[in-house]
Amino acid sequence: MSRLFGTDGVRGVFNVDLTPEVALKLGLAIGSYFGSGSRIIVGNDFRAGSLSLSNAVISGLLSCGIRVYYAGFTPTPALQYYIKEKGFDGGVMITASHNPPQYNGIKVIMDDGIEASREVEKVIEDYYFSLRFKRVKWRYVLNQVYSVHDVNDFYVRGVLKLVDKDLISKRGFKVVADLANNVSSLTTPKLLRELSVKVLTINGDMSHEPYRTPEPNRESLSDLYKVVTAVGADLGLAHDGDADRVVFIDELGNFIPGDYSATLLARYLVERDRDSPKRVVTAVSSSVVVEEVLKPLGVEVIWTKVGSIGIARLMKRVGALCGFEENGGFMYPKHQYVRDGAMTIALMLEYLAKEKTTLSKALSTIPKYYLIKTKVPMDRERAFRMVEKVKEVYSKHKYIDIDGVKVFEKDYWFLVRPSGTEPLLRVIVEGRTKGIAEKVLSELMKLIKEGG
Ligand code: MG
Repeated sequence: MSRLFGTDGVRGVFNVDLTPEVALKLGLAIGSYFGSGSRIIVGNDFRAGSLSLSNAVISGLLSCGIRVYYAGFTPTPALQYYIKEKGFDGGVMITASHNPPQYNGIKVIMDDGIEASREVEKVIEDYYFSLRFKRVKWRYVLNQVYSVHDVNDFYVRGVLKLVDKDLISKRGFKVVADLANNVSSLTTPKLLRELSVKVLTINGDMSHEPYRTPEPNRESLSDLYKVVTAVGADLGLAHDGDADRVVFIDELGNFIPGDYSATLLARYLVERDRDSPKRVVTAVSSSVVVEEVLKPLGVEVIWTKVGSIGIARLMKRVGALCGFEENGGFMYPKHQYVRDGAMTIALMLEYLAKEKTTLSKALSTIPKYYLIKTKVPMDRERAFRMVEKVKEVYSKHKYIDIDGVKVFEKDYWFLVRPSGTEPLLRVIVEGRTKGIAEKVLSELMKLIKEGG
């Protein structure tokens, strides 16, 4: 049986490999999994094909006797929060998150708001490929889809409940928000205004042809850097397509990698949430800065595989203060165990207000590394062999090998891991200086070139 789900749902180019026909069959498969009478809520972002796909999924769900609720355009974390808080049996989100605009995707969400585990996906795949759908007799198919209109407002209110609104309001922040021409425009400006923030938006209209790539990274946000400094904003922020991720720009127009902003937030939460476990879960791709800052405060840092679903499920199992990835996905369990853009923004504003500081000053209080990220094209087998080879050569060093191999040294660290989705070996190096990082990288590249 071939595989339908990737690392985060089903993804494909709309009308090429992700068609309404695929979505219909997937709707039938998801409906077969949850079973007749289940309450399932469907939402979508504003990508090309989102409505076509959500209607096809709904059609399949109805055919299996599902009670379908439709949330309309909404960020993924807003739908996830609604599912958990309102007691739905599950949900389906139509989005391809940060992928290029021609992509769309379908992800299944469980009753706790977290994306389906690999085990659940396998059951759904089995229905999909075997075509043994659990359709119901004609008399049990509903001729109704229940419209839900308050998902976005409910989410914003939920976020506001968890922060000190007065403290943030008194600071009178000015923020530039880059909304990626997608559904964050339905929630983030509203959240900011509720916090008395003067908000300026760029890429704020919803369009399935966004002005920038939906992935918020160092390269894609040049407009935001300019606007933040031009208007003298306190900070800038940028979402991905479905607004579960957010990255920050300091008041000087500098991009802050997600693991660095998350480290600041985690350090703040240790003081703020004394009732929470002193434990943080993050992916091996995050910087060792996380450990350098949090360990002295008595925080246990758990490194795990790259992938937000694994982080979420691990956090839920062991209990955690927060969890995150370096791409701007931050999870705050008091709100929900999933990446949560709006919650992250509210916490960041509260932190800056409480500490009476700016983002660049806050950042100067944690160690700085020079980062180099690169990738070497190769097939998966060779990529795994490379990891073994690197492990062999660096066997005397402190390392972990839960996902590729991550080596820790006094003045540098690096991660070499096979990509989960592409025929690539990913290499991340951070050194205390540019020179150190470049030296380590060139040693690694030499090894990769020579190696089998
Ligand atoms: Mg996303």
